[in-house]
Amino acid sequence: MSAHLIDGKQLAKEIRDRLGLDVKAFETRTGVRPGLAVVLVGDDPASAVYVRNKKKACDTAGLSVVDHHVPSDTTQAGLLDLIHQLNTDAAVHGILVQLPLPSHIDSRVVLQAVSPDKDVDGFHPYNVGRLVEGAAEFVPCTPSGVIRMIESTGETIQGKHAVVVGRSNIVGKPVAMLLMHRHATVTICHSRTTDLPAVCRGADILVAAIGKPQFITGDMVKDGAIVIDVGINRLDDGRLVGDVHGEQVRARAGWLSPVPGGVGPMTIAMLLVNTLEGARRAVA
Ligand code: NDP
Repeated sequence: MSAHLIDGKQLAKEIRDRLGLDVKAFETRTGVRPGLAVVLVGDDPASAVYVRNKKKACDTAGLSVVDHHVPSDTTQAGLLDLIHQLNTDAAVHGILVQLPLPSHIDSRVVLQAVSPDKDVDGFHPYNVGRLVEGAAEFVPCTPSGVIRMIESTGETIQGKHAVVVGRSNIVGKPVAMLLMHRHATVTICHSRTTDLPAVCRGADILVAAIGKPQFITGDMVKDGAIVIDVGINRLDDGRLVGDVHGEQVRARAGWLSPVPGGVGPMTIAMLLVNTLEGARRAVA
């Protein structure tokens, strides 16, 4: 058996194309162009690439995007001033603070300073709470992309056993919550899980968000499972690989998302969706 590939690049393009039309219609109706403010602190090369890709996608979809690139020695107070200014800027409907932030800045404090109405990443405690309630206003972009990818297979989620490996606030926990709200039976695994391979083998849907290259091997996957690889890892030889061993898992799984070209492009597409949502809310 060789898994069907879940083509995140193509799926993301379809979402962006549809969104481009929605943005145009929204602007015609309201006279408002949805706007995203991207805050990048310091010179982390990976963050710079992510920000560049996000800006490019915004431009293509007809959203306005303003880049706030501040030096790495910016103080927390200085960064909070910028966030407060963006919170009150009527042309800004979404604020994205690119993580990670330098160690002298408390990310939690900064993310809490973003207005929940402009919190397109869905990281503010208010939006986290709404997500847990099953009444999400802004769904975090990567988890939202993961769900769209699973749904794109046409397989039902309800009643399936979903295993999420990773319990971070930005990926693992929200993915698990979204799967539970779609009536999957969800197991969340982490570094202290006992006999992880056995737990993973029980999964009809397996989501890997670990940050360890090619960690999920073929023997950890049930025949026919849907496997979503969230991981992005750069190997010493420069290759980009996921948390899933693609070659081995392709031979077992029913569906597999590739890296690159899987969850990454979907994350960006969902950011655009959330920015339009922010603008809709601002004019409502
Ligand atoms: P974190 O480092 O915040 O979380 C990693 C999780 O994996 C933790 O819960 C950790 O467990 C768990 N873990 C680590 N080692 C093991 C192990 N040996 N067995 C089981 N679980 C383990 O990472 P993120 O959630 O932020 O990101 C995960 C991956 O997804 C990364 O590769 C990241 O680059 C990628 N990513 C991709 C995005 C995209 O757009 N495609 C967006 C965001 C992230 P514990 O809690 O016990 O420490």
